[in-house]
Amino acid sequence: MPHLIRIAVLHFSHETVTFLPNDTELGDFIYPGSPASGEALLGFDPRGYMGGFVKMAREFTGVDLVGIESPLWPKTGTGSGWVTNEAFEIFTGKMIAQLRELGPFDGAYLCVHGAMAVRGVARPEAELAKRVRAVLGPKAFIAGTFDPHGNEDEQFLVHADMGFTVKYFPHYDCYLQGERAARGLVRAIRGDYAPTTVTVKVPIISPTVVQWTGASPWSDLVQRALTWEAREPDVFVNVFFGFPWSDVPDAGMTIQVLTNANPTLARRVADDMAGFAWRKREALLNTITIHSVADSVTLAQKAVAEAKSPVVLADYSDRSGAATFILREIVDRGLSRTLIATITDAEAVATVMESGAKIGDAFDREIGGRIDPSAGAPVRIQGRILGFGTGTDRSSGQAWVHVGFGDGNVVIISPFLVQIQETYSLVAAGLALEDFDVFVIKSRAHFRRGFDDSGFAPTILLVEPPEPFMGTVRLDALTYENLDLAAFYPYGNPAFPA
Ligand SMILES: [Zn+2]
Repeated sequence: MPHLIRIAVLHFSHETVTFLPNDTELGDFIYPGSPASGEALLGFDPRGYMGGFVKMAREFTGVDLVGIESPLWPKTGTGSGWVTNEAFEIFTGKMIAQLRELGPFDGAYLCVHGAMAVRGVARPEAELAKRVRAVLGPKAFIAGTFDPHGNEDEQFLVHADMGFTVKYFPHYDCYLQGERAARGLVRAIRGDYAPTTVTVKVPIISPTVVQWTGASPWSDLVQRALTWEAREPDVFVNVFFGFPWSDVPDAGMTIQVLTNANPTLARRVADDMAGFAWRKREALLNTITIHSVADSVTLAQKAVAEAKSPVVLADYSDRSGAATFILREIVDRGLSRTLIATITDAEAVATVMESGAKIGDAFDREIGGRIDPSAGAPVRIQGRILGFGTGTDRSSGQAWVHVGFGDGNVVIISPFLVQIQETYSLVAAGLALEDFDVFVIKSRAHFRRGFDDSGFAPTILLVEPPEPFMGTVRLDALTYENLDLAAFYPYGNPAFPA
């Protein structure tokens, strides 16, 4: 009978847009279901990182998983700014206290994102790993899973042993990386894997909208990592694309390579991957065409007329969810059979709910805008309430109001930013996809999962307002305090390798 392995499981994830005016506060992490512990934590995301981790870990005999009380994603989703120091300290404080109380542990799994930004904590994931290490001791093993938009350097791996990062964008392989983390931990604890890592920062910073891995050269980067993993057993290659809307010192692209006690191989693979990315830097930054709001509506009308619908208009730059530029254009140009999902307006939703409004009631008010210049001006919508939906996935539990107006148009009003990624989210909210020719959504690349890679929409148009607002591809329009854009391609001319 082998020794029983005890692994603590923790979750603390956010992708923080530090330029947003609303902090991510303690209360944003607290809602029915969050924080979660025990089986509720282990079972909260069966198709994601956690699901893969738990499934694989439980395929080994003699492995005991302990779900430590952890916050799930904040109810604001990705639509909120700096995580407050209070929120970070309270949740990590509880985690550490519980680890002490329930220990000893042979290992820990940290289900993180990598682009959480916390006031006063420069590298929150590394800080969490450091505190967990202090409780578990030097002999335990710590593994993390990461989003490709994580902003990471070598610091996490100073305190933890292993990291496994999703390769594709949209994020198709979360489950797989969770499985790898479980197998890596069990093997390491049993003495069958000696994690040896090399990290290389590549001085490239890119907006996420260019990073779709469905096309070259981002797909080439994925393929090169997969090739290394295929030809060298026990090698794992992490490519962090980075998340430039977090103003943090470890932003930008990062390569991490994990091997089984082979530092020479780790170095060779890391240098190859970093060199490849650097040689492709110009192409990596030039993968997309972005249309103006007016042009995108003209092109959408043309596509519908030529039977090249459904059409997706993806407003990639809206970071608050309240941006109304496309809505304004659609109303003014009299488009028909168009779904706008969603416009964030917490006050409008609350007012409708509190009024006791019913399906079929008239609706006449201004919606959206106002939050800041990037949201634009509110737009008056006159129509009827068609239904009340709830969000799915990370927006689950949100109250949505569906308003019908004009010729077969529907606008969904939501209390928080919603990135529609899958068509089933719309179906779950009670909408019939065949009722619409044009789908206006607030998403950069995630939507390709349900609308593009799936074959749903033959016409995909990326849109941004004319000004370089918060979510812009023109990162030099943002005011960074914690990193120097000139240290990155394409904003400066950094030497690489340094
Ligand atoms: Zn991501």
